[in-house]
Amino acid sequence: MKEVADGVWQLTGFPPHGINEYLLGDVLVDAGASFSRRQILKDLRGHTVSAHALTHAHADHQGASKKVCDELGVPFWVGEADADAAERPELIRERQPDKLINKVFWKAMAGPGHTVDRRLREGDEVAGFQVLDVPGHSAGHVAYWRASDGVLVLGDVMNNQNPLTGVPRGLRLPPSFFTPDPERNRQSAKRLGELEPKLVLFGHGPPHRDTAKFVAFTEAL
Ligand SMILES: [Zn+2]
Repeated sequence: MKEVADGVWQLTGFPPHGINEYLLGDVLVDAGASFSRRQILKDLRGHTVSAHALTHAHADHQGASKKVCDELGVPFWVGEADADAAERPELIRERQPDKLINKVFWKAMAGPGHTVDRRLREGDEVAGFQVLDVPGHSAGHVAYWRASDGVLVLGDVMNNQNPLTGVPRGLRLPPSFFTPDPERNRQSAKRLGELEPKLVLFGHGPPHRDTAKFVAFTEAL
């Protein structure tokens, strides 16, 4: 794992930066795909983990959630409007745009559902970060924001690479075929730009530290 900010680690991910998980203090944020379990548990060895939270309940973020929660004995925290999908992953497939790629991805990556212990809402605190409601890419998508040093974990509200191929790198909105409500997601992205974050951490793509570029991109949306 790599420490990318004070008390914030980016897990190894597979492929690197392709599917990201983060440790914020003692809270694991996102759990990759179903095949990510071994990598996540290996990365977390030697670290204290007290809870597991999601940015959103999609197959490449909740894939190993149940196994991680069971093996580490930690509670599962999910944005309020995604909690039912985190418990019953067939809802993930049903809520995604009706495209073959979503069915294929769901089959390849979704993990079993797991009981949600805490439904996250705007303004809640998680490991010193504030929960922000940023719906659109999923109904209950949340971001985690630490104003004191400008660290933002925004899940898939934006990507910093092509999420299918990994190339090219660079800021973009997630593809509409992965996003049930692209217009709402665009508004969420603009809101995040107004925070003027110093470090942005994505579900897909490397960390981004160019505040001016991030703000300009979101203003133009
Ligand atoms: Zn997603």
